[in-house]
Amino acid sequence: MMSLSNETHAPHLTSWVSSANTPNTDFPIQNLPFAQFRRKGSDEVFRGGVAIGDLIVDLAAASAAELFEGIAQQAAEACTQPTLNDFMGMGKSAWSALRLALSRALRSGSAQQSVLESCLVPQSEAEYSMPCQIGDYTDFYTSVHHASAVGAQFRPDNPLLPNYKWIPIGYHGRASSIDVSGQTFPRPQGQTKAPEASEPSFGPCKRLDHELEVGIFIGSGNTLGEPIDIEHAEDHVFGLCLFNDWSARDIQAWEYQPLGPFLSKNFASTISPWIVSLEALAPFRAPFLRPENDPQPLPYLSSETNSKQGEIDIALQVLIQTEQMRQAGREPEILANSSFVHSYWTIAQMVTHHTVNGCNLRPGDLFGSGTQSGPNHEEAGSLLELSRGGKEPLTLANGETRSFIEDGDTLIIRGWCQKEGVAPIGFGEVSSTVLPPNN
Ligand code: CA
Repeated sequence: MMSLSNETHAPHLTSWVSSANTPNTDFPIQNLPFAQFRRKGSDEVFRGGVAIGDLIVDLAAASAAELFEGIAQQAAEACTQPTLNDFMGMGKSAWSALRLALSRALRSGSAQQSVLESCLVPQSEAEYSMPCQIGDYTDFYTSVHHASAVGAQFRPDNPLLPNYKWIPIGYHGRASSIDVSGQTFPRPQGQTKAPEASEPSFGPCKRLDHELEVGIFIGSGNTLGEPIDIEHAEDHVFGLCLFNDWSARDIQAWEYQPLGPFLSKNFASTISPWIVSLEALAPFRAPFLRPENDPQPLPYLSSETNSKQGEIDIALQVLIQTEQMRQAGREPEILANSSFVHSYWTIAQMVTHHTVNGCNLRPGDLFGSGTQSGPNHEEAGSLLELSRGGKEPLTLANGETRSFIEDGDTLIIRGWCQKEGVAPIGFGEVSSTVLPPNN
């Protein structure tokens, strides 16, 4: 098994960008995540950028300055486009070459400092767009803790369906309503039916919920009819972001059988602007473990590499800031902490399972990991779980209560990785706000 770490992960590396060397930055030189950005309020075209400390390396400017050579320069040129799809489609060797070139150019003492200094934009002066055009979006369901807790509410007599421990369960979602952090959207309306009602009624969703997820961006795709085997699955993954998959629980409960979620899920979902590459996450890999009495995955979903380091330990946190909190100048309040390491299925297993029938993935396709609830109740990644279906409303520090999301609430997800002897890295955050329903 190959070691995934290389010189770009060395914990002693520092940058001539001083804000990248502060202990609490999400974006030290070991991270180097990608986004599409431009100066706030300008009519500039969006182009690729890489975060370093509190600045952004403008890849259009760096490309024009011809700072890099060979495949790294070609990769930087691909990042001048209004989406990262072409860069993502160039594959792992191109992503890696650009990361290495940027790491060397940003290091303390680099001869490229004087040129690269003219290619920097403060993050405080930037706005972001979707990093790529998402052709297809698939949402998985990889937290067994979430699946069990939600299953118990929807089907008390049959919480975890028999396929769960054999198949990475997923459904095909809709890409058009996915937007970048800062998204606002009206409360969805639709059909719901209370359990005791004889007929459904129409109106605004009464059980609006967040879902704490990790977004997985596909880089290079595969040809229709040619599955991606598990040993090569991660070569096709560009990187990860934070993902809030907004959900209308009352609409979902009425519509989801027999074909799964539909209008309860496709009105809004929000991603963080920064995509952290899989390469940057190499030091935070963890073993894929199955509880003793659970079945082992079928051979096509198993590999030695997947067993030894298939998981990624990403700390995840959900916060809420209500309208009242905002007006009183109160900081967002933590709703739950969890981790991606609890995922029942790994990213490699998701990619391989998705393509095993011949389905083709394309650059910029997005997977949602499914709600990442931890083993304990307070680690739940949705209000449906935290409030036990609305039966136990949460009391916030200012005295407000929440069973589900109210109009004006802002939900924030943060994520970071830390480990002894390794430079910690972060994902930044994703934030979005629910507005009152449209009439
Ligand atoms: Ca979801």
